[in-house]
Amino acid sequence: MKLSELSYLSTKRLDALSSEGIHSAMDLLNFFPRRYLDRSNTQKMKFLPGSGEEVTVAGKVVDISTAGFGRKKRLEVTLNDGTGTIKGVWFRGVKYFSKYFKKGETVAFFGQAKRYGKNVSIAHPEVDKISSEGDLDAFSRIVPIYPGSKGISQARITSSMIQNWNKEILANIQIDEFLPTDILSEMKFPTRKEAYRMIHFPESHNQHKNALNRFKFEELFLFEMSMEKIHFTVKDRAQGHLFKNIGNYTARYFNEVLPFELTEGQKIALSEIKQDVRSGKQMNRLIQGDVGAGKTVVAIGAMLMALDNGFQAAFLAPTEILAEQHYRTLSDHLKEMDINIRLLIGSQKKALRTDILTDVEGGNAQIVVGTHAIIQDEVRFHNLGLAVIDEQHRFGVKQRADLLSKGNHPHMLVMSATPIPRSLAMTVYADLDVSVIKDLPAGRKPIKTAIRSHKKREDVMHFVRQEVEDGGQVYVVYPLVEESEALDLKDATAGFEKLKKRFPEFKIGLLHGRMKTEEKEAVMKKFIDNEINILVSTTVIEVGVDVPNASVMIIEHAERFGLSQLHQLRGRIGRGERQSYCILMPDVKVSKAGAFRLKTMEETNDGFRIAEADLKLRGPGDFLGTKQSGLPDFKFADIVEDQFLLAQAKEKAKSLLKEDPELKESSHKNLSTVFAPYFEEKVKFYGMG
Ligand code: ADP
Ligand code: MG
Repeated sequence: MKLSELSYLSTKRLDALSSEGIHSAMDLLNFFPRRYLDRSNTQKMKFLPGSGEEVTVAGKVVDISTAGFGRKKRLEVTLNDGTGTIKGVWFRGVKYFSKYFKKGETVAFFGQAKRYGKNVSIAHPEVDKISSEGDLDAFSRIVPIYPGSKGISQARITSSMIQNWNKEILANIQIDEFLPTDILSEMKFPTRKEAYRMIHFPESHNQHKNALNRFKFEELFLFEMSMEKIHFTVKDRAQGHLFKNIGNYTARYFNEVLPFELTEGQKIALSEIKQDVRSGKQMNRLIQGDVGAGKTVVAIGAMLMALDNGFQAAFLAPTEILAEQHYRTLSDHLKEMDINIRLLIGSQKKALRTDILTDVEGGNAQIVVGTHAIIQDEVRFHNLGLAVIDEQHRFGVKQRADLLSKGNHPHMLVMSATPIPRSLAMTVYADLDVSVIKDLPAGRKPIKTAIRSHKKREDVMHFVRQEVEDGGQVYVVYPLVEESEALDLKDATAGFEKLKKRFPEFKIGLLHGRMKTEEKEAVMKKFIDNEINILVSTTVIEVGVDVPNASVMIIEHAERFGLSQLHQLRGRIGRGERQSYCILMPDVKVSKAGAFRLKTMEETNDGFRIAEADLKLRGPGDFLGTKQSGLPDFKFADIVEDQFLLAQAKEKAKSLLKEDPELKESSHKNLSTVFAPYFEEKVKFYGMG
């Protein structure tokens, strides 16, 4: 059925719908109400006390008039619901609203009702147009209110119009069920067509809720089916390199080089990796561990397994500072073992770059550490056996795929310090196995975090002096203001100058994103060697930087940072034996959300708790960056709110695919038709096509 076949659908209205992305009858059915007006809950106008309480009223427009003059001019729209009247009053937008209403229309107002003499009125009510004619009594108890964009209201499309069209559509259209019958009955869901009726013409709130859950489930189910299938495909398709000999390098590293005992979590992660690389299948493993858990050592161990078997390993980091740090750590840890390690970053000179590329392609370079530069086209490996991605949430799914394409199904290890709540991890990383490092290395003292206002700046400075005199090192961090890199640079630079004046006897360093690589490298090296006491920095140190002797971090304008970012920053301290302190210095004015973030930081060091709080504050898309993370953009479902449905969808998807992996059974024919194109999209997205 075409939209143009519907009654009372003029070209103008067709255009308005089309600008909302509604091009077909199905699109219109999928245009769900924004909310429902329950007539049993709307107040009768006659009985309104008018003492400022919030009310929903609905009635017929009986009068539209202006009152007052000049700047005091106002618009009054009177509604009548058969029991009495109420006025909507506008002081702003008088011209717009006087054209917006027509006598005889049925509309609903929502707002604070106040009595002035005989009349009750609502100033600037929220307005929903229900119908261009007809009495309210003609409507069912629950009236759907559709989202009204400017285009839609200009074309005078009302909610009841949309309802009438939907009635026509539902009477004429065939809608196939694609969810298997047993799932429908187990979940007590209505059929697809029935669900559309229940969305647009609900007889009760339960009906509407049940129908909505069905549509949410549909989305989650398709998504989980695709995840499950990707999981199979990744696992089954790829033969993995066999790392038979785990010996020389690996054993020496853990037995002779490492100065400390591995934590339980590190040991388990390493033994899981060992199993993977000896399974004959390609490894796809995520190491999740809070900041400071010691993921790098695990990565080094895995890389040495590759080297033990004559393969090359790549180690990808999101920033140059981090790549350089890893390069230094590796060079330092492995210096006795005669291993050729190369650093590959974007800012290197051409001659050096050519030399590195030759080394990598020829197989001379055993380990390549670097940034995005590693995944550029001209980089070719001799025999890449393992690819490690550090801080993987900084990379897109595509980049992961690009790195993998540098070898013949190399094993892959990705590491993340963003403790992703289980519910999300399940969906985002369906194609990965997960090792969690729960424990921090022994001897760490929990970081003490405090919020200090500017009035306390003197005390804070006094404390900084004590710490430095006692041999500790200090970070002072300034936020990155995205719109203006110049501005935050100014903040950091000014802070740097002030500190130099204040502590002439200390060595103060400055680090920011605009410095040349060599300059950054030099500053970092000095800080690591404790030749810089206080490092003033922008957020370039946010990820991964590891200087165990640094024990104090002062975060300026702390309320401007996101929670996860604050946690990442704080993770730069508390890495050694010293008691560490994080001091959050907010501006004078702090928003509610900002205050909540700071308080959460003060209350807990637990990355998982912080992640949960952050997720609640920001929602999943923003939390991980929807596109980046591969998190699906659901239309109806909310990955956080609908966790229960999500778990059910996952379970049902799993058991269905186990029973009928290719969806060949005749009872799954419709499902197969819907799923095939959906899956194709997903596979493209994951770069596995
Ligand atoms: P992250 O997991 O945040 O990447 P790192 O790998 O940078 O953490 O490790 C943090 C610090 O802890 C490093 O200085 C590292 O040498 C040290 N470390 C790692 N494992 C242990 C351990 N088992 N015992 C003591 N120190 C450790
Ligand atoms: Mg790290």
